[in-house]
Amino acid sequence: KEFRNNVKPNWCPGCGDFSIQAAIQRAAANVGLEPEQLAVVSGIGCSGRISGYINAYGFHSIHGRALPIAQGLKLANRDLTVIASGGDGDGFAIGMGHTVHAIRRNVNITYIVMDNQIYGLTKGQTSPRSAVGFKTKSTPEGAIESTLSPLEIAMASGATFVAQSFSSDLKQLTSLIEEGIKHEGFSFINVFSPCVTFNKINTYDWFKENIINLNTVENYDSSNRIMAMTKLMESGGMITGLIYQDKTRKSYENQVVGFRPEPLAKQNLQISPTDFEKLVAEFK
Ligand code: SF4
Repeated sequence: KEFRNNVKPNWCPGCGDFSIQAAIQRAAANVGLEPEQLAVVSGIGCSGRISGYINAYGFHSIHGRALPIAQGLKLANRDLTVIASGGDGDGFAIGMGHTVHAIRRNVNITYIVMDNQIYGLTKGQTSPRSAVGFKTKSTPEGAIESTLSPLEIAMASGATFVAQSFSSDLKQLTSLIEEGIKHEGFSFINVFSPCVTFNKINTYDWFKENIINLNTVENYDSSNRIMAMTKLMESGGMITGLIYQDKTRKSYENQVVGFRPEPLAKQNLQISPTDFEKLVAEFK
């Protein structure tokens, strides 16, 4: 199964986004998908280009709006596996309203955020993920606003699948994406993805020194919500692995009464003229 296409990514050499592209391609193949069964919807930013770099249905959408499109796509065609993707600026600034509501809605899609803690495409401004004191062209005296904690927000919004990885750890990242695809409901995967061109603080070495892999944490239980929240707060959000999963809650589409499972395009929507008139009358 071939999820590679002939498009050469124009990311900077060394950008963390390359690994995320490779992990999505490997995970899709490992779970047995065919290219025509996968759709990748992206927002705007360097990361937003990913929808054109994978041999699947691709939709390069608008800034902060990948999630509404991805959810609509899934609800219209439940046979598709849908992955939404974008950067931390895209998902946690302009798109944050959509992110929290998509999390609590729990439509069965996977959301992968390429978190480089800066705006790369516009050449290096602070993002909601930048640390206090972070100096860029937009904050020459250092960022004043506090850093947003997306995973804690996800937990507080009722997430059913929360994971985090690092683009250097392709094995872990691939496996988490596989688990996210298989999870019934909204799976949220934040990935530390260094911007080698504009972020000289949060580098590969910096992440390696600061990350705690949950595999090394004795007796960690990813089904325990309080343990997940506590570990996130203790580590300042620097843990990687499967942080939390709730397998008991059904996805949005599996709870809507009378929602037919077959794709809209395959449903017989023929209606008699009498029934059509009745329907129109209801809306008058
Ligand atoms: Fe990657 Fe940064 Fe280059 Fe954008 S500017 S492609 S995020 S390294």
